[in-house]
Amino acid sequence: MSSDLVHGRAPSGPFTQPESITDPDRLASYLDDAAHVPGGYAAALVEPRSERDVSEAVQRATRVLAIGAQSSLTGGATPRGETLISTARLRTIVDLADGRLRVGAGVTLAEIDAHLARRGALYPPLPTWHGATIGGAVATNAAGAATFKYGTTRAWVDELTIVLASGDVLDLRRGEARADEQGTLVVQLGSQTLKIPVPSYRMPDLPKVSAGYYARPGMDAIDLFIGAEGTLGIVTEATLRVRTTRPATALAFVTLTDRKVALELVGRLRNAAMQSWRTPGARGIDVSAIEHMDARSLAIIREDGVDMRLGVEIDAGGVMGLLVALDLPSATAVDEACAPLAAMLQEFDVPDAIVAAPDDHAAIERLLALREAVPLGVNQRIGRARRDIDPRIEKTAADIIVPFERFGEMQALFDEELQSRGLDGAVWGHISDGNVHPNILPRSVAEMESGRDAVLAFGRAAMRMGGSPLAEHGVGRNETKQKLLREMYGDDGIEEMRAVKRILDPDWKLGSGVIFSRVHLRKQHPQRNR
Ligand SMILES: Cc1cc2nc3c(=O)[nH]c(=O)nc-3n(C[C@H](O)[C@H](O)[C@H](O)COP(=O)(O)OP(=O)(O)OC[C@H]3O[C@@H](n4cnc5c(N)ncnc54)[C@H](O)[C@@H]3O)c2cc1C
Repeated sequence: MSSDLVHGRAPSGPFTQPESITDPDRLASYLDDAAHVPGGYAAALVEPRSERDVSEAVQRATRVLAIGAQSSLTGGATPRGETLISTARLRTIVDLADGRLRVGAGVTLAEIDAHLARRGALYPPLPTWHGATIGGAVATNAAGAATFKYGTTRAWVDELTIVLASGDVLDLRRGEARADEQGTLVVQLGSQTLKIPVPSYRMPDLPKVSAGYYARPGMDAIDLFIGAEGTLGIVTEATLRVRTTRPATALAFVTLTDRKVALELVGRLRNAAMQSWRTPGARGIDVSAIEHMDARSLAIIREDGVDMRLGVEIDAGGVMGLLVALDLPSATAVDEACAPLAAMLQEFDVPDAIVAAPDDHAAIERLLALREAVPLGVNQRIGRARRDIDPRIEKTAADIIVPFERFGEMQALFDEELQSRGLDGAVWGHISDGNVHPNILPRSVAEMESGRDAVLAFGRAAMRMGGSPLAEHGVGRNETKQKLLREMYGDDGIEEMRAVKRILDPDWKLGSGVIFSRVHLRKQHPQRNR
């Protein structure tokens, strides 16, 4: 039953006195994340083994940054002088009697997947990179390809243990504490009562949003910490809901030569999937994800010879590649189960799909590698530009979501912006959610700067279309993303987030500068979504 009150407690477990590593050589490999923003530096690194270790480390340091696998694409896991608290040694995995899974924050999603696979179960909201930790995934409310069918991390987290900036610990269980009618979440820490005002901005209603603190009237206290990017507390453990069965999933890759037709096909596949979920048992098309690669992404695959290496033929006139994940009904032959999809492709006059059956692991790996070759190829090109042209060149990318019905419009805008600015860029992502990642391929610092403006234009257009410029990667320390967040909720919205942080972290100890800056910047943006 909901008590509307969260009680803190003292940390439990042994204090193992983890070493505070300050040796620059040992710190060197922790100074950036997957956004590769240069200039990271850290005071120290601590690798706690227990909840009490985390609490002690937080209390001893002036500023801390929690890190998992540092796969952040926003610079949120790049230190700026803090003590790094790595969750690498928080590695418990416990199967609960009711089937759920209790895991330490440092357990990776790949490990969770492998563990559950042994009992035929599944934790579905996996981001594309499974090396990320569950702590990082909770902190960013990570999503991914299969969000279309299963939702984001938020939907699968039942309980969290959080170490606050004070060193106190919260055990949050979904359904136990909600915001009251005044819009306040109440946390009791010993004799101290913390009254946290839920921000009043309206979050867009979309399949995935990783844009600052979650806020809804009557919201569950646990949701405040999911997606807070480590700025309100450090996740030490999480209890996850899991699916007791693991569907057999086939992959089908098709290349289309007409973008309009491709979008129509995606729309039909989405509708067919939703119809299948409404009528379990019907032999329809049960799609859990549709991944998308635009013409430039396909060209990158060809330029890098990945198609030849993997033996996957890509139509030279292809303007869109689609990788469809198809959940198959049990006890049905693959051909029979794929027949409705084949019929739909025929209707759209799409040449034969390259299909990888669920048990053909090599073929599945090949198609996944084809998809991954796009970000890999883009990152290599940026790395070469940084090395050969200018060391200041950085990854410049957006993480846009729009209601699927507006995706065609968004696509036209990507074209327009890139063409009018003379920029090279590739767009790929999770089209089944209307969520894609336009990436700029800068050939100079000027192009990178123009690319940043393009990212702002994409984000603003997404907001106009009822979407979000921040979908699944979070905000981190990326200036452009922070600017877009401010435009999304207005200066007052950011101030409301600051008010939440000030109550839970008055000394601004945790992840300072992540999501928003400490100081109030001058008023300059209209308030949206209020
Ligand atoms: C190739 C590639 C593909 C990706 N694909 C996707 C995708 O499909 N979907 C998606 O959502 N993301 C994706 N990402 C981004 C990234 O993997 C996710 O954001 C992931 O959730 C980060 O997990 P991590 O363990 O690496 O966290 P880190 O990068 O270490 O940290 C990320 C943020 O979380 C905070 N944090 C980390 N651990 C904790 C903790 N225990 N408690 C509190 N705060 C914490 C950090 O301070 C930081 O702000 C991708 C990244 C790469 C490199």
